[in-house]
Amino acid sequence: MSFADRLNQIKRLLPPKVGLLAVSKGHPDSIIRIFAEHGQFDFGESRLQEALPKIKNLSDINKIRWHFVGHLQSNKVRSVVQHFDVIHSVHSLELAERIARISKEENRFPQIMLQVKFREDPAKVGFSVEDLLVSWKKLSNSPNLEICGLMTITPFDLDLEGRKKLYCECRELANSLKLKDCSMGMSQDWRQAVEAGSTLVRVGSFLFGDRVK
Ligand SMILES: *Cc1c(COP(=O)(O)O)cnc(C)c1O
Repeated sequence: MSFADRLNQIKRLLPPKVGLLAVSKGHPDSIIRIFAEHGQFDFGESRLQEALPKIKNLSDINKIRWHFVGHLQSNKVRSVVQHFDVIHSVHSLELAERIARISKEENRFPQIMLQVKFREDPAKVGFSVEDLLVSWKKLSNSPNLEICGLMTITPFDLDLEGRKKLYCECRELANSLKLKDCSMGMSQDWRQAVEAGSTLVRVGSFLFGDRVK
């Protein structure tokens, strides 16, 4: 199946209001360019060092929006703010405040997704629901943060039914905070995420094939 066929296959199945984020980590900019030629402009990267040369090589395509989806370390914030349009992996109040301060200095306005962890998962960062609720007033009152939604990753050993349930919890929490977006769903479970109310699915291997690294 060609890249265009895979893109069309998933787009046909997504409701009109659900966006597709093509997670291009581990794949070269030549393939990203092919997707852009077929009308896909949202791309996700999780490693800054890998992403920067790709962003540079593709800077002639104005419509591309870069999403940072990886674990964001505080010493990488400035570069991420400079080069990305959306940051999906904001996992603490401290990090959010740092992003706000640096965005102001850089005169940038990245959209923010708060990463929430709905189950114990030592492999993942994220706000617990309790932490998010405690920090919410500060987060939502911060003048330089454009918080548009929540992002979540499910534990990899959870079955599809369990994932859908988790995604529904994320949707409910977003609704209760009056946040429009939920960044949830990956190659294995984007259908469950869409049923639960995802507004942006993050799909890598289904589109690009297996990652080399
Ligand atoms: C890699 C990655 C994806 C895409 O994963 P696939 O299973 O290849 O679709 C989605 N979200 C995040 C945060 C990722 O790191």
